[in-house]
Amino acid sequence: MTSSLSSPSNFSLNADPSEPPPQALLLEEAQLMRVAARPPRIMVCGSGSYIWDHTGVRYLDFVQGWAVNSLGHSPPELTAALLEQASTLVTASPAFHNAPQLRFAGELVRAAGLAQVHFANSGAEANEAALKLARKWGRLHRGGGYEVITTENSFHGRTLALMAASGKPGWDELFPPKMPGFVKVPFGDSAAVAARIRPETVAVMVEPIQGEAGVVVPPDGYLRELRALCDAHDLLLICDEVQTGMGRTGTLFASQHQGVKPDILTLGKGLGGGVPVSAVLANERASCFVPGDQGGTYNGNPLMIAAARSVFAVVSEPAILARVVAAGARLQERLSAACLEHGLGLRGRGLLWALVLPDARAERVASACFSGGLLLNAPRPNLLRLMPSLRVSDLEIDEMVAILERALRN
Ligand code: PLP
Repeated sequence: MTSSLSSPSNFSLNADPSEPPPQALLLEEAQLMRVAARPPRIMVCGSGSYIWDHTGVRYLDFVQGWAVNSLGHSPPELTAALLEQASTLVTASPAFHNAPQLRFAGELVRAAGLAQVHFANSGAEANEAALKLARKWGRLHRGGGYEVITTENSFHGRTLALMAASGKPGWDELFPPKMPGFVKVPFGDSAAVAARIRPETVAVMVEPIQGEAGVVVPPDGYLRELRALCDAHDLLLICDEVQTGMGRTGTLFASQHQGVKPDILTLGKGLGGGVPVSAVLANERASCFVPGDQGGTYNGNPLMIAAARSVFAVVSEPAILARVVAAGARLQERLSAACLEHGLGLRGRGLLWALVLPDARAERVASACFSGGLLLNAPRPNLLRLMPSLRVSDLEIDEMVAILERALRN
């Protein structure tokens, strides 16, 4: 049963009577390029773990904008930072310094133990920059080497280069011709990486936990083995932490679970807590851009960086990371019981989890959850992914499990 509580601010989509009513507004869908199938609902406001649609229905949100709203919907820190920065300086052009960018560069680089950062607007843009760094570095230090080893089922973004880098099934056929320079090996298998290293290889690029593939956790030691291989063969290790970074798995960066420091680290999603900002960080060895190599109109703009700083001030605190671990343990315990009853698999870490269904009914279950007032994501036909706010409460976890169990029984 859906809850139909009034929203925190009693938000009304019809505040302006000259605007079309919500039902008519939905007809405007025909004017949008159809890149996603969406239910006939308009999401109008959110607070913490909840989001409300235009009919007043409230949903418990375990998707959070695809692991983006790290502190939940409209957290006060983020709102305050945006308001303050918006009334001070929104953008100055990338040709000038701005104080939030300078401050945040130091904070983030020190937290990661790397040398330099470049800010961008999406995970894909950060990963593109990582690949450019690798190719440039190959040209400078590896006799023109350019090849990057990536993994099957990986997801690095939707630009043409990143579709070639990613191992998402079906993408090989799309938008030919494919960009060359990528070799794919099975995820979690460092021997397979070793076997594909050749003179043209310059880097190995992995997600510490594959997110979009369905929260696939590699064997213990995998990242350490990749680090050792990269050191032995003079290659760059690129960790794509767009999904796993910024506290999502219980440490600031998931690579820290294995004590590994990559040469290049990419961040996005939770970095801005819902605001589009991303980052590519590199150590001294890999940080080889010179003016002209990389940039973008909105890169490092003060508004987005002020937002990211406000989120970082929270997620870099040991207390919230400890809470992610504790909430993750509760989620695992509660889901394990449901898994036993319904014959499901479970995998994940911190507050990034996937349920593996025995058959291809993930969309059906997600849709039953939606009708029950719960948002879950179905990234594959047999997979459900959970990525709640890092501030999710025990009660909200219990509420989620109760709705999910009802949906599974249907
Ligand atoms: N890398 C990883 C690991 C991701 O999960 C995603 C998005 O899901 C991306 C990169 C792309 O990020 P964006 O959609 O912000 O371009």
